[in-house]
Amino acid sequence: MKKMFMEIPKVELHVHLEGSITPNTIRKIIENENSEISQFIPKNEKKYKYSGASGFFSLYPKICSVIQTPKKIEFITREFLKQQKQQNIVYSEVFYSPQLDIDNFSLDEQLKAIENAINWANRDLNTHMSLIIDVNRGLELRKIE
Ligand SMILES: [Zn+2]
Repeated sequence: MKKMFMEIPKVELHVHLEGSITPNTIRKIIENENSEISQFIPKNEKKYKYSGASGFFSLYPKICSVIQTPKKIEFITREFLKQQKQQNIVYSEVFYSPQLDIDNFSLDEQLKAIENAINWANRDLNTHMSLIIDVNRGLELRKIE
C-alpha cells in the first residue's frame, strides 16, 4: 500500500520552502560553520529536537538564519525538489518568505536563486514548482524592496 501511494503522481498545494528544510539539508549547509542550530539536530538524528509549537517557532528563525546566501537558497530549493521527486510529487505550490531570511541581498537575487532550482527540476527531474511570495504586512517595506 505504501509503495502504491509513493508511486501515484501527486501535487502539493501548500508547502513552505523554509519549513521543508530537513535536518540533513541543514547539516550539509552548516558542515563547516559553527552554528548554534547544531544543538537542534544532533548527529545522525533525522528530526529536529524541539517541543511544542513555541519550540518550533523559536527554531524556525534559526533555520532561516543559515540560508543567507543565494547559493544556499538555491541549494535548499534543489534539495526540496529532489524530495518531491522521490515521492512522485509532480507539481508543488511553494510559499517563500523573503523577509524572514535575508537582509544581505535583494529579493531579485533570492528569486533568481529559486528560479535556477525550478528550471533545473523542470529539466532534469520533470517535477514542477510555482512560487508564492509570502509577505508579512507587519514588516517594514524597505526590507522586501
Ligand atoms: Zn502555510
